[in-house]
Amino acid sequence: MDQENFDQGKIYFPTEITHQILHVLRLSEGDEVCVLDNRGHAYRVSLVGGDGSLGLEGEILSSTPVTTEPDTKVSLCFGLTSRDKVEWILQKGTEIGAAAFFPFTSERTLVQSTDLPAKKFLRWEKIIREAAEQSGRGLLPELNPPMTLAGCLQHFRVLGTRLLAAWEGAEDHPDQKLSRILTGKMESLALFVGPEGGFSQAEVQSMQECGGELVSLGKRILRMETAAILFPALALQVLDDL
Ligand code: SAH
Repeated sequence: MDQENFDQGKIYFPTEITHQILHVLRLSEGDEVCVLDNRGHAYRVSLVGGDGSLGLEGEILSSTPVTTEPDTKVSLCFGLTSRDKVEWILQKGTEIGAAAFFPFTSERTLVQSTDLPAKKFLRWEKIIREAAEQSGRGLLPELNPPMTLAGCLQHFRVLGTRLLAAWEGAEDHPDQKLSRILTGKMESLALFVGPEGGFSQAEVQSMQECGGELVSLGKRILRMETAAILFPALALQVLDDL
């Protein structure tokens, strides 16, 4: 729920959520729900009113910090691809614990334009919100508008974020294993997964020039959507943050 829906111990549910509470969950006045503020807190809330015409209100009974958030803020950057694959990556990535999503275009991405219709962007945000609610996330992962691979690399270079790129050409060598690379705690981490056609040699080089470390995800070639889920899961597991 957004900050604007909270006011002095009360919560004002927007129309869509009012509908969900009253007509899908079939709850009514006096029933209790759990509300997340997407800023790290969960609230126990008692429903008030609810004739449907004015929207539903809730009275906050208590609040507790949400403890499901990983310590490391993992940004998942992936090649822009077909609608259903992007939706899968956003949903599963949210469940696993990604903090932000960065779809990018690169030499071999199926989609070459960074223009995304507003309707699609809103739908993708909704998928993330629903996955966050379902999986009990404390913070709502952020969806960034598509950018070029170069723009995305530059974004993290400026922030000084540790950058790892999954590359099937990286030697599956013990020294290249995530457990060797990711030692100690870190505030943020950016993970790059290429498109169906992979990264070009020039792109691999430019990722390295930006300080990116190349990582193998094993001996077999994974589909990009598999790699996009396995990579954050493995990284968070190694960081003991899953
Ligand atoms: N077209 C390439 C494979 C691309 S797979 C080929 O056929 O050789 C799509 C993306 O998934 C890659 O760009 C990479 O980021 C990731 N990926 C798939 N398998 C991987 C592996 N074994 N190790 C590291 N990354 C992998």
